[in-house]
Amino acid sequence: MTTSRTTSRHVLFAAPDRIEIDETPVPDPADGDMLVRVRRVGICATDLHLLAGHIGEPFPLVPGHEFVGEVAAMGVAAGADRGVGVGDHVAVEMSLPCRSCPRCREGRYNLCDRDDPAAGLDRGRQYGVNIPRTVAPGLWGGYAQYLTVPAEAIVHHIPHHVPWDVAALAEPLAVAYRAIARAGVRPGESVAVIGPGPVGLLTAAAARSAGAGRVVAVGTRQNRLDLARRFGADHTINGRERDVREALVDDAGGLCDVVIEAAGRVEAQQQAVGLVRRGGRVVLAGACGAGASVTFRADEDLLTREIDVLPSFLSAGGFEPAITLLARAELPFAALVTHRFGLDDVAAAYDVIERRDQDVIKVVLDPWSTDGFTRS
Ligand SMILES: [Zn+2]
Ligand SMILES: [Zn+2]
Repeated sequence: MTTSRTTSRHVLFAAPDRIEIDETPVPDPADGDMLVRVRRVGICATDLHLLAGHIGEPFPLVPGHEFVGEVAAMGVAAGADRGVGVGDHVAVEMSLPCRSCPRCREGRYNLCDRDDPAAGLDRGRQYGVNIPRTVAPGLWGGYAQYLTVPAEAIVHHIPHHVPWDVAALAEPLAVAYRAIARAGVRPGESVAVIGPGPVGLLTAAAARSAGAGRVVAVGTRQNRLDLARRFGADHTINGRERDVREALVDDAGGLCDVVIEAAGRVEAQQQAVGLVRRGGRVVLAGACGAGASVTFRADEDLLTREIDVLPSFLSAGGFEPAITLLARAELPFAALVTHRFGLDDVAAAYDVIERRDQDVIKVVLDPWSTDGFTRS
């Protein structure tokens, strides 16, 4: 394959609701940096919220934080402590932590407090979310052929046998593993997952791999609930057909030790506290959109039942178990990637997602492809 590293084609969110295709020069990586040739990037609901202007004004922005690719070039000092070399397959975490603030030092680098007002940044830096293209060298999003990986980035090696479409699930699966870690799921415990989208389905798998004794998937789209069984769910409850709490108690083994909300809806967050046993843990893993507010009954829902409500943000700590599970290839991960498009067809990809068709699970982009696929 011939590749010129002189320019990188990319998608640009130029302004709210304005998508462009553009190119930017690709400089040789500086000393501690690497250059990654992006092979897949997952489209995330966050990307659509960004485009709509719901998450600040980071424009012009190259979006994309669920990317994987191969190391294309390394600065002279980049290789030594990363354990990867040119040609290796890698996932790079979306958070670019400062590694020195109190939150980074305690390991919660998803909450990095670095701010950089000169670059218009606050509260840490995230690929494809809050680093505008105007920050040199401009390669800060995964909807692109190349991406820059600075020294502070967290890079994970992906075994070569993992297909690219499957590798692209590393980030959402890492999000799932963080949610499981926040819950502190212990072997034998019961776990309900609300919202069988890509993260929810992967959360069922992560719960099972953490030793959960009973896994229940709650949703409204039957085909996704059917898929949840293939990812470790013992029971599924369709909220369109049944009262969820009643179905859980009567037919799915009872209230759960842990409930994980992965739908990103405040109604589902409220539902979650009703599905957990007294003294149980509820993890809120779905983003509901800026300004959303949720109400719990202080006494009946929380106080008298001593429910722990634990938000889980991004993917910190989740990549290693995620990549291990993907590489084991025991679950039908490829079935989650239902659509693939090239960069030129990103608008069509968004249409597919927004139509909410039954057959859409995860949509990915291949920045080097001109023809996409849809699995029937
Ligand atoms: Zn995402
Ligand atoms: Zn920090």
